[in-house]
Amino acid sequence: MAEQEYDLIVVGSGAGALLGAIRAQEQGLRTLVVEKTELFGGTSALSGGGIWIPVNYDQKNAGIQDDLETAFGYMKRCVRGMATDDRVLAYVETASKMAEYLRQIGIPYRAMAKYADYYPHIEGSRPGGRTMDPVDFNAAKLGVAALETMRPGPPGNQLFGRMSINAFEAHSMLSRELKSRFTILGIMLRYFLDYPWRSKTKRDRRMTGGQALIAGLLTAANKAGVELRSNSPLKELVQDASGRVIGVVLEKNGQRTQVKARRGVLLGAGGFERNQEMRDQYLNKPTRAEWTATPVGGNTGDAHRAGQALGAQLALMDWSWGVPTMDVPKEPAFRGIFVERSLPGCMVVNANGQRFLNESGPYPEFQQAMLAEHAKGNGGVPAWIVFDASFRAQNPMGPLMPGSAVPDSKLRKSWLNNVYWKGETLEDLARQIGVDAAGLKDSARRMTEYARTGKDLDFDRGGNVFDRYYGDPRLGNPNLGPIEKGPFYAVRLWPGEIGTKGGLLTDREGRVIDTHGRIIEGLYCVGNNSASVMGPAYAGAGSTLGPAMTFAFRAVADMVGKP
Ligand code: FAD
Repeated sequence: MAEQEYDLIVVGSGAGALLGAIRAQEQGLRTLVVEKTELFGGTSALSGGGIWIPVNYDQKNAGIQDDLETAFGYMKRCVRGMATDDRVLAYVETASKMAEYLRQIGIPYRAMAKYADYYPHIEGSRPGGRTMDPVDFNAAKLGVAALETMRPGPPGNQLFGRMSINAFEAHSMLSRELKSRFTILGIMLRYFLDYPWRSKTKRDRRMTGGQALIAGLLTAANKAGVELRSNSPLKELVQDASGRVIGVVLEKNGQRTQVKARRGVLLGAGGFERNQEMRDQYLNKPTRAEWTATPVGGNTGDAHRAGQALGAQLALMDWSWGVPTMDVPKEPAFRGIFVERSLPGCMVVNANGQRFLNESGPYPEFQQAMLAEHAKGNGGVPAWIVFDASFRAQNPMGPLMPGSAVPDSKLRKSWLNNVYWKGETLEDLARQIGVDAAGLKDSARRMTEYARTGKDLDFDRGGNVFDRYYGDPRLGNPNLGPIEKGPFYAVRLWPGEIGTKGGLLTDREGRVIDTHGRIIEGLYCVGNNSASVMGPAYAGAGSTLGPAMTFAFRAVADMVGKP
């Protein structure tokens, strides 16, 4: 006997799930969102909030020309046949409408003029403008009580672990623009002077990135009247005699209850990266759940399994949105190293002390290269990011702030030989981290030589517009710097991810397809719960959140019969 009845039940509370719920409620469907953990927002709340939206409303302001045909061609080439043309086209055609909808519900975005697509060598790529960053959001609109139910952002996305910083500001700082000094000062002043707000909560009023996106979505969900339940994991999907999905079984405080869904169920319960058994079954080895950067206790593939129990087809299960990660004690999840590896004066080596990749390339390919190197027997897991005293003085590396601001003497004592390793010479460092000293010295010598000539003869680091986005624009090659001045440092990298990308196969409306190629009526799936429309690729920054929300938008249109 069903406990309650809704039109739509949405499973999970990441960006795709919430956007679908808001849209559905607005279109007249009484909607319930169920979240497994005690906090709403999922990995989406930890994210940069970036969305990859071809032909978007702000591209002209960013000075970028784009059109649907070019964007479709680029994405199709990236996808390499691992998602159908039909779905790729649906994405390209709808993404900008979804972004427009976000703006309408109070979550405007700006195009990032200089953030290039991830594969500049692929025809149809653009040197910027397709990635969009959310405009800062004032958390007062959500309210302190609701804010406390939202997953906080990761320390790595904040200044001094407290103050929000947006993608434009971060880029300006890392590019060492003069104006960034005033920006930092402004951020600090605004935070500390906002005593009325800080007396209520430690969390910054000014939300950026994924925090701005999720705070905006939760605000819109509350306004639309969406019902949200935390600590309510999906256990099973319920079908009627015809096979149509008509509800869910939830668990709350150890009790199972059935909730009916008249129009359907939208799954948005994330990937399976926190499930070691599923990792062992599907992902390339070695693979460990603790290497992931996504929230502990969240994404264990529950809804993958619930869909499978109904005969749903799985695809892309061996792919993830890879990123190198590092372990920072006391941080709840491993930290993704997205940016630092691109800055001049560092290099990444295997156990032989040799470089094996372009450090500035896209992070999914970086993670794949680590695994491939390991499979060759060269010890790519863990890999080591190595830098010298000059790099240390000027640049951040994970939780290490630039030495000019926080010298080694001020770093936590427990971090030495745990978060970072330090040697007076390269031989000394090599001995400590267990890599080949001759190989390491040779790699540093070559990198120093390449920094002088501006050309990386081994991996062409800095050879394209994507690499150069995070670098020092004052240099001939913004991504190359010498590694010659002791002491030398190393940080350990693991092949982690920001989510898995395999899941239930869907059609262009987000409807789940079974192993016989038929639609499972009443069942929709988005985000990392579904097989990604990006196939093996990461077309540009925002390639996970953009599709999650776009297919949620399409799914609701399908449910209500309004294209
Ligand atoms: P999630 O956001 O993880 O949401 C899934 C939710 O479902 C979770 O809250 C989980 O607890 C819940 N759930 C799980 N099982 C159940 C169940 N049985 N019942 C009910 N609920 C359940 N991507 C981008 O596109 N752009 C970026 O800028 C970006 N930056 C990132 C930065 C960082 C540091 C990280 C970690 C990730 C970033 N990503 C980015 C990746 C992106 O955050 C994820 O791919 C995306 O959030 C996945 O969305 P989702 O809705 O599928 O899953």
